[in-house]
Amino acid sequence: MLTIKQFTFSPVQENTYVIYNEQGWCAIVDPGCYFSNERKVLRDFIDDHSLSPKLLLNTHCHLDHVFGNKFIHDTYGLILHIHPNEKVVLDFAPVSGQSWGLPFENYNGAITYLNEGDTIRVGQDMLEIIHTPGHSPGSICYYCRAQRFIISGDVLFRESIGRTDLPLGNSETLLKSIREKLFLLPDEVMVYSGHGPVTTIGYEKMNNPFLSQESL
Ligand SMILES: [Zn+2]
Ligand SMILES: [Zn+2]
Repeated sequence: MLTIKQFTFSPVQENTYVIYNEQGWCAIVDPGCYFSNERKVLRDFIDDHSLSPKLLLNTHCHLDHVFGNKFIHDTYGLILHIHPNEKVVLDFAPVSGQSWGLPFENYNGAITYLNEGDTIRVGQDMLEIIHTPGHSPGSICYYCRAQRFIISGDVLFRESIGRTDLPLGNSETLLKSIREKLFLLPDEVMVYSGHGPVTTIGYEKMNNPFLSQESL
Protein backbone atom coordinates (compact mmCIF):
# COMPACT_ATOMS: atom_id res chain seq x y z
CA MET A 1 0.00 0.00 0.00
CA LEU A 2 1.49 3.31 -1.08
CA THR A 3 1.06 6.70 0.58
CA ILE A 4 1.67 9.93 -1.30
CA LYS A 5 3.05 13.04 0.34
CA GLN A 6 2.98 16.26 -1.65
CA PHE A 7 5.28 19.23 -1.18
CA THR A 8 5.12 22.48 -3.11
CA PHE A 9 8.53 24.00 -3.66
CA SER A 10 10.42 26.88 -5.29
CA PRO A 11 9.22 30.21 -6.68
CA VAL A 12 7.67 28.14 -9.51
CA GLN A 13 5.39 26.36 -6.98
CA GLU A 14 6.16 22.90 -8.25
CA ASN A 15 4.74 19.76 -6.64
CA THR A 16 7.29 17.27 -5.38
CA TYR A 17 5.99 13.83 -4.37
CA VAL A 18 7.31 11.28 -1.93
CA ILE A 19 5.63 7.90 -2.44
CA TYR A 20 6.22 5.36 0.31
CA ASN A 21 5.00 2.12 1.80
CA GLU A 22 4.64 0.65 5.30
CA GLN A 23 8.19 -0.70 5.21
CA GLY A 24 9.63 2.74 4.58
CA TRP A 25 10.53 2.14 0.93
CA CYS A 26 10.22 5.41 -0.86
CA ALA A 27 10.44 7.02 -4.28
CA ILE A 28 11.04 10.74 -4.73
CA VAL A 29 9.38 12.20 -7.82
CA ASP A 30 10.44 15.56 -9.27
CA PRO A 31 12.37 16.99 -6.33
CA GLY A 32 11.80 20.69 -6.98
CA CYS A 33 13.33 21.83 -3.70
CA TYR A 34 15.34 24.91 -4.58
CA PHE A 35 16.15 26.65 -1.31
CA SER A 36 18.06 25.04 1.54
CA ASN A 37 15.05 25.33 3.85
CA GLU A 38 12.97 23.39 1.31
CA ARG A 39 15.63 20.70 1.15
CA LYS A 40 15.54 20.52 4.93
CA VAL A 41 11.74 20.11 4.92
CA LEU A 42 12.05 17.20 2.51
CA ARG A 43 14.90 15.56 4.39
CA ASP A 44 13.15 16.03 7.74
CA PHE A 45 10.00 14.36 6.42
CA ILE A 46 12.05 11.39 5.23
CA ASP A 47 13.87 11.19 8.58
CA ASP A 48 10.76 11.66 10.71
CA HIS A 49 8.98 8.83 8.88
CA SER A 50 12.09 6.62 8.89
CA LEU A 51 11.90 6.33 5.12
CA SER A 52 14.58 4.79 3.00
CA PRO A 53 14.72 6.51 -0.41
CA LYS A 54 15.19 3.96 -3.20
CA LEU A 55 14.20 5.73 -6.40
CA LEU A 56 14.73 9.17 -7.91
CA LEU A 57 12.16 9.72 -10.66
CA ASN A 58 11.42 12.67 -12.95
CA THR A 59 8.19 13.05 -14.93
CA HIS A 60 10.13 15.42 -17.18
CA CYS A 61 13.12 17.72 -16.84
CA HIS A 62 11.98 21.32 -16.92
CA LEU A 63 13.96 23.29 -14.40
CA ASP A 64 11.28 23.39 -11.70
CA HIS A 65 11.15 19.58 -11.59
CA VAL A 66 14.90 19.00 -11.42
CA PHE A 67 16.20 21.66 -8.99
CA GLY A 68 16.71 19.05 -6.27
CA ASN A 69 17.94 16.08 -8.34
CA LYS A 70 21.56 16.63 -7.41
CA PHE A 71 20.68 17.15 -3.75
CA ILE A 72 18.75 13.85 -3.66
CA HIS A 73 21.57 12.08 -5.48
CA ASP A 74 24.20 13.48 -3.12
CA THR A 75 22.13 12.80 0.00
CA TYR A 76 20.77 9.33 -0.77
CA GLY A 77 23.00 8.06 -3.60
CA LEU A 78 20.11 7.56 -5.98
CA ILE A 79 20.34 7.35 -9.77
CA LEU A 80 18.01 9.49 -11.83
CA HIS A 81 15.25 7.81 -13.88
CA ILE A 82 13.90 9.65 -16.95
CA HIS A 83 12.58 8.93 -20.44
CA PRO A 84 15.32 8.90 -23.12
CA ASN A 85 13.69 11.80 -25.02
CA GLU A 86 14.08 13.95 -21.93
CA LYS A 87 17.88 13.90 -21.69
CA VAL A 88 18.18 16.92 -23.98
CA VAL A 89 15.73 18.81 -21.75
CA LEU A 90 17.71 17.86 -18.64
CA ASP A 91 20.90 19.13 -20.25
CA PHE A 92 19.21 22.43 -21.07
CA ALA A 93 17.73 22.99 -17.60
CA PRO A 94 20.64 25.03 -16.14
CA VAL A 95 20.44 27.39 -19.12
CA SER A 96 16.77 28.04 -18.46
CA GLY A 97 17.65 28.36 -14.76
CA GLN A 98 19.94 31.24 -15.67
CA SER A 99 17.30 32.92 -17.79
CA TRP A 100 14.65 32.55 -15.06
CA GLY A 101 17.04 33.98 -12.48
CA LEU A 102 17.07 30.61 -10.72
CA PRO A 103 20.57 29.21 -11.20
CA PHE A 104 21.18 25.71 -9.85
CA GLU A 105 23.62 22.84 -10.03
CA ASN A 106 22.35 20.17 -12.41
CA TYR A 107 22.41 16.43 -11.79
CA ASN A 108 25.34 14.91 -13.62
CA GLY A 109 25.30 11.29 -12.45
CA ALA A 110 24.26 8.12 -14.24
CA ILE A 111 20.80 7.85 -15.78
CA THR A 112 18.42 4.93 -15.96
CA TYR A 113 16.00 5.27 -18.86
CA LEU A 114 12.32 4.41 -18.61
CA ASN A 115 10.13 3.70 -21.61
CA GLU A 116 6.43 3.27 -22.31
CA GLY A 117 5.20 0.05 -20.74
CA ASP A 118 8.08 -0.36 -18.32
CA THR A 119 7.22 -1.04 -14.71
CA ILE A 120 9.15 -0.10 -11.62
CA ARG A 121 8.72 -1.49 -8.15
CA VAL A 122 8.28 0.58 -5.02
CA GLY A 123 8.65 -2.22 -2.50
CA GLN A 124 5.80 -4.66 -3.24
CA ASP A 125 3.94 -2.16 -5.39
CA MET A 126 4.21 -1.41 -9.07
CA LEU A 127 4.25 1.81 -11.04
CA GLU A 128 3.69 1.64 -14.80
CA ILE A 129 5.33 4.07 -17.19
CA ILE A 130 3.06 5.88 -19.63
CA HIS A 131 4.81 8.08 -22.21
CA THR A 132 2.77 11.27 -22.65
CA PRO A 133 4.73 13.71 -24.85
CA GLY A 134 3.56 17.19 -25.82
CA HIS A 135 4.43 19.42 -22.88
CA SER A 136 7.92 17.97 -23.17
CA PRO A 137 9.13 15.22 -25.55
CA GLY A 138 9.96 12.73 -22.81
CA SER A 139 7.12 13.44 -20.39
CA ILE A 140 6.14 10.28 -18.57
CA CYS A 141 3.41 9.52 -16.04
CA TYR A 142 3.77 7.03 -13.21
CA TYR A 143 0.59 4.98 -12.90
CA CYS A 144 -0.32 2.79 -9.95
CA ARG A 145 -3.03 0.56 -11.38
CA ALA A 146 -3.71 -1.24 -8.08
CA GLN A 147 -4.34 1.94 -6.13
CA ARG A 148 -5.70 3.96 -9.02
CA PHE A 149 -3.49 7.01 -8.93
CA ILE A 150 -1.16 8.63 -11.43
CA ILE A 151 1.66 11.13 -11.08
CA SER A 152 1.06 13.20 -14.21
CA GLY A 153 3.80 15.83 -14.17
CA ASP A 154 2.81 18.84 -16.27
CA VAL A 155 0.68 16.89 -18.76
CA LEU A 156 -2.70 17.27 -17.05
CA PHE A 157 -3.75 19.69 -14.32
CA ARG A 158 -7.05 20.33 -12.59
CA GLU A 159 -9.04 22.16 -15.31
CA SER A 160 -5.90 22.84 -17.31
CA ILE A 161 -3.11 21.24 -19.32
CA GLY A 162 0.63 21.77 -19.62
CA ARG A 163 1.95 24.65 -21.67
CA THR A 164 3.29 23.82 -25.10
CA ASP A 165 5.12 27.02 -25.95
CA LEU A 166 8.41 25.86 -24.45
CA PRO A 167 11.13 24.36 -26.67
CA LEU A 168 10.09 20.91 -28.00
CA GLY A 169 6.49 21.37 -26.84
CA ASN A 170 3.60 20.49 -29.18
CA SER A 171 -0.05 21.12 -28.38
CA GLU A 172 -1.54 18.50 -30.72
CA THR A 173 0.79 15.88 -29.33
CA LEU A 174 -0.17 16.86 -25.79
CA LEU A 175 -3.91 16.64 -26.45
CA LYS A 176 -3.37 13.27 -28.14
CA SER A 177 -1.42 12.00 -25.13
CA ILE A 178 -4.23 13.00 -22.79
CA ARG A 179 -7.07 11.72 -24.95
CA GLU A 180 -5.47 8.48 -26.07
CA LYS A 181 -3.59 7.54 -22.93
CA LEU A 182 -4.74 9.27 -19.75
CA PHE A 183 -8.44 9.40 -20.62
CA LEU A 184 -8.44 5.63 -21.17
CA LEU A 185 -7.80 5.18 -17.45
CA PRO A 186 -10.73 4.62 -15.07
CA ASP A 187 -12.63 7.77 -14.08
CA GLU A 188 -11.78 7.36 -10.40
CA VAL A 189 -8.01 7.47 -10.94
CA MET A 190 -6.56 10.26 -8.80
CA VAL A 191 -4.27 12.60 -10.73
CA TYR A 192 -1.34 14.15 -8.86
CA SER A 193 -0.08 16.98 -11.04
CA GLY A 194 3.16 18.89 -11.24
CA HIS A 195 1.35 22.08 -10.21
CA GLY A 196 -1.89 22.74 -8.38
CA PRO A 197 -4.34 20.45 -6.57
CA VAL A 198 -5.14 16.79 -7.07
CA THR A 199 -7.91 15.89 -9.50
CA THR A 200 -9.37 12.77 -11.11
CA ILE A 201 -9.57 11.47 -14.68
CA GLY A 202 -13.37 11.55 -14.55
CA TYR A 203 -13.47 15.14 -13.30
CA GLU A 204 -11.14 16.29 -16.09
CA LYS A 205 -13.13 14.44 -18.76
CA MET A 206 -16.16 16.44 -17.66
CA ASN A 207 -14.65 19.79 -16.71
CA ASN A 208 -11.33 20.38 -18.45
CA PRO A 209 -11.90 23.27 -20.86
CA PHE A 210 -9.04 22.14 -23.09
CA LEU A 211 -10.59 18.71 -23.58
CA SER A 212 -14.30 19.27 -23.97
CA GLN A 213 -16.55 16.26 -24.54
CA GLU A 214 -17.40 17.30 -28.10
CA SER A 215 -13.80 17.18 -29.19
CA LEU A 216 -13.04 13.78 -27.62
ZN1 LIG B 1 7.13 21.33 -17.24
ZN1 LIG C 1 6.39 22.30 -13.98
